[in-house]
Amino acid sequence: MIRLAAPRFGPDEERAIRDVLSSGKLVQGRHVREFEELIAGRVGSTEAVALSSGTAALHASLLALGIGPGDIVILPAFSFIATANVVELCGARPVFIDVEADTFNIDPELLELGLTDMRSRGESVKVILPVHAFGRVADMAAIKRIAQAHGQAVVEDAACALGAYSEGRPAGTWGSVGCFSFHPRKVVTTGEGGVAVTDDPQIARNLRMLRNHGQDPLGEAFDSVMPGFNYRMTEIQAALGIEQVGKLDGIIRLRRSISQRYDEALRHTAVTVSSPAPEGAAVYQSYVVLLPGELAASRRALIDALRVDGIEISVGTWHMPMTTYFRERYGYRSGQFPVTDDVSRRAISLPMHEGVTQDDQVYVVDRLLARLEELTPALLSPTVTGRRMAVGDDS
Ligand SMILES: *Cc1c(COP(=O)(O)O)cnc(C)c1O
Repeated sequence: MIRLAAPRFGPDEERAIRDVLSSGKLVQGRHVREFEELIAGRVGSTEAVALSSGTAALHASLLALGIGPGDIVILPAFSFIATANVVELCGARPVFIDVEADTFNIDPELLELGLTDMRSRGESVKVILPVHAFGRVADMAAIKRIAQAHGQAVVEDAACALGAYSEGRPAGTWGSVGCFSFHPRKVVTTGEGGVAVTDDPQIARNLRMLRNHGQDPLGEAFDSVMPGFNYRMTEIQAALGIEQVGKLDGIIRLRRSISQRYDEALRHTAVTVSSPAPEGAAVYQSYVVLLPGELAASRRALIDALRVDGIEISVGTWHMPMTTYFRERYGYRSGQFPVTDDVSRRAISLPMHEGVTQDDQVYVVDRLLARLEELTPALLSPTVTGRRMAVGDDS
């Protein structure tokens, strides 16, 4: 089976984990601190706070900024559901904006229109929460300009985008806080894990309190100044992360060449490839293309057929406003996010990891196009049947 995603570990990772086990110190030790310093150094932020997941990083970041009931957070419609869930879990209201079809990122023009419209209705938005879809940085210069003009803070969901840049500036460092995930589906992994980066010492302090039962890192022992979570990262996770982040640049280079080969093979075929990312702007967490619109309804059949061929593919990501919870709570309907309506039905994610060989790619593209061709006549059959019936009526 050519897997969709497959993290790779070597003797370095095994040794690092064994070292933690033999030290006997599994939590709140030097590996977590070292991992935080490594990430801060990598992105050039003054602070990095390790957490138990990317979701925890996003949740704690919004709380650290004081987001709560009555507040509005604006975010793209097309993302992993955690992006919207954390807003809701703060008691705030998520407002979704449609994405661009060729990058899958929030559309800055629609963002600006949405904010202007909301302001005219007297609704004030606290935070803009852009997502770097599949590891490709959103148009942060435009988003930052809009946020400054309208008075919002920016929190980046950079879950998939560690190592990506926008106009020379690292993903995660454009806003007040940036959040990374180290889930096994991401470019480098700690199993589960997340990091929030910021240049604001008060936000970092809030994050450290929120992850550790409300204990102020600068305060007295056995005191809690706010209700907090246990959102801590373990020493084993951090030790794994230190090794993995050391390999990040090589992994990104490999993924870029895999992505470029897919692009070349699939351009001018029935599927639509994304527009090329500017140099350095993507880390290729996933490789996502769009099926022809007429074949969107056959996507499940295509995934099943390719599984028979030994290829694991998947859908792109979530149409968040159309999930049961958000649809029922806020009354969203299809048609409100036309691009997300369309791409969420057509997007497929192809195998993308360091173990994907050139031969694998030739086979994946070959089988994908063959299976699409097989599915196309099935689409025509209702018409054919209809014509035959019409002929029957005539006689
Ligand atoms: C993976 C992901 C998350 C959540 O990260 P976890 O570490 O799995 O909690 C959030 N947002 C996006 C866009 C993601 O891809």
